[in-house]
Amino acid sequence: MKTAVYPGSFDPVTYGHMDIAKRALKVFDKLIILISVNPNKAGLFTPEERVDMVKEVMKECIDKIEVIISNDLTVKQTETLDATHIIRGLRAVTDFEYEFQMTHANRVLNRDVDSIFFMTDHKYSFLSSNTVKEIAQFNGDLKKFVPKYVENKLKEKYQ
Ligand code: ADP
Repeated sequence: MKTAVYPGSFDPVTYGHMDIAKRALKVFDKLIILISVNPNKAGLFTPEERVDMVKEVMKECIDKIEVIISNDLTVKQTETLDATHIIRGLRAVTDFEYEFQMTHANRVLNRDVDSIFFMTDHKYSFLSSNTVKEIAQFNGDLKKFVPKYVENKLKEKYQ
């Protein structure tokens, strides 16, 4: 069984993240979505809330995904979870430089773990969790960016 991990903050999950996860599931039998917790950066949603939202919006493929909270290095987690690859999404050239550094750093830590990049649908190529949070803060229309479930959670936060 081919397993990959898909790490990120998912604060909150967007259609962009979902697009990447679905593309990865065409290649891998199982995808472990790692909600990475940054101790120096409090997110808008708790890690548990993020897990709940990812599970809800990905429920049509729930038999092929697992969603877990991670406080460890992605490359270490990949090994521990018996996965072989790290999935990342690419939106624009601006993502490339950061991903380039991360991939090479990860390779130094463990040369057996490789990263695979998927390009999102062009309609999500500008979309990030930060953009979504900014729009939500000003009560903008979120329906093209996040599923209804996530939209409602954002509304609750900014009420
Ligand atoms: P962000 O906070 O930038 O939305 P995350 O840290 O949650 O992102 O990102 C996890 C992974 O998902 C990264 O590889 C990121 O490039 C990718 N990703 C996030 N949004 C999109 C999108 N709209 N299209 C493609 N990939 C995306």
